[in-house]
Amino acid sequence: MKKYIALFCLLFAAYSSTVFAQKEAIDRLIEKKEAVSHFSFLASDELMGRDPIRPEIDIAARYIAEQFERFGAKQIPGANGFFQTVPFRLSAPPVTGEMKVGDQTLLHGGEMLVLDGPDVSGTYDLVIAGYGLEADYDGKDVNGKFVVVRVGQPDRLSPADLFAAGRQKLALAKSKGAIGIIEMYNVPTTPWGLLANYLNKPTLTIDADPESGENITYMWVKDLSGEIIKEISENTLKATLTVTGKINRKIPGKNVVAYIEGTDPALKDQYVMLSAHYDHIGVGQPNAEGDSIYNGARDNAVGTVAIINAAKFFAANPPKRSILLCAWTAEEKGLLGSGYFAANPLIPLNKIIYNLNIDNGGYNDTTIVTVIGLGRTSADHHIEAAAKEFGIEAISDPSPEQGLYDRSDNVNFARQGIPAPTFSLGFTAFDETISKYYHQPSDHVDNFDLDYAMVYWKSYLLSAQKIANEPKQPTWVSGDKYEEAGKALYGLE
Ligand SMILES: [Zn+2]
Repeated sequence: MKKYIALFCLLFAAYSSTVFAQKEAIDRLIEKKEAVSHFSFLASDELMGRDPIRPEIDIAARYIAEQFERFGAKQIPGANGFFQTVPFRLSAPPVTGEMKVGDQTLLHGGEMLVLDGPDVSGTYDLVIAGYGLEADYDGKDVNGKFVVVRVGQPDRLSPADLFAAGRQKLALAKSKGAIGIIEMYNVPTTPWGLLANYLNKPTLTIDADPESGENITYMWVKDLSGEIIKEISENTLKATLTVTGKINRKIPGKNVVAYIEGTDPALKDQYVMLSAHYDHIGVGQPNAEGDSIYNGARDNAVGTVAIINAAKFFAANPPKRSILLCAWTAEEKGLLGSGYFAANPLIPLNKIIYNLNIDNGGYNDTTIVTVIGLGRTSADHHIEAAAKEFGIEAISDPSPEQGLYDRSDNVNFARQGIPAPTFSLGFTAFDETISKYYHQPSDHVDNFDLDYAMVYWKSYLLSAQKIANEPKQPTWVSGDKYEEAGKALYGLE
């Protein structure tokens, strides 16, 4: 019996010293001065709010890539160095847009919207072509002319359908030699004013066809009763157009990506993805102090530093599984960078067994970390234990009504089946302490509790390390809405 007790003591000592060693290694490697200097640089005014439509964001991307390289993380085969190029398209409304047809003058932003194409000036022939589908062009010569069609398709009239169909019709009209396409808007279910408001502002999207040249002119005209199209048809009207100052620009965005090879011959083919978006909302309305740069220290320079720390720590202490490091661009524009990676993965998605995302609005409690999605995967206990070792508690989403789980990059991977919580600064409610800084110019490093930042960064690393070393692959808890997607992705059961 004594022998067993001695053996047990030995094993326990070995176990606890490993656990202790992990924490100690993190304490030793993650230095406050260094981590805070990353934080201050990423949230500095010089980066102008890390807006994906501004050039300064590339300084942030380069900085992150340099840290990955410096610490010994590796480039992913198929990537562009430490980057994944994301083909963006920036579209901004024209300064002036006017169309005269018959005795009517339609103005951009009023009864008409110029959605794409170059500046134009002139009088053009109009050819009416049904819904603008292939069959609608039978026997029609649209070369050098404007095609006039009905918006959407007979059975596809939701706003998303209208946009998607419009893009297809635009490409088709261009292939037929038309120089412009006008969709007549007559959908009663979605008010014109709502759409005009939504479309009449700069938008960044993933370029669906990055190889294509410039698009032809693409417009919507409000014609609820069908009178304008009738008049065009009956009187063979022409249109006189003036469009100036329209912006359509291709922007090569950058996800910053790298990996660290795992040590276990069997498990290293599996990846734990550690991710954070590094973009923020740029420059905007000044606050009362005249500050117009939205530095985004909380959202999400602090998370980006966690990924840089992960490069340093895991390159020196590789776990059993491989670590995938991802800094996403354009989260604030609609989760675009992560969405692009999910659609064009550099590592097959079924080899990514877990995504511990990190993203933040702010904090109001420095005794906790708030993990959006805690309670939904079999790896929860690792996160809870890691937080505890650093003297804080991991709690789950206190504001489910905010729908935070489905509002950050993790959801692009959860939908594919990858268990993917988001690790956040401690908050117990979406209250005034949060909204004081959330998407405000005052979101600075100098009003951030840096001792808390250290605890937060370290507990993130320890969580990731525990998950990457656990022999069993984490899964969604039974009954989760993404459970089936997970089974399908990994071929489980
Ligand atoms: Zn964010």
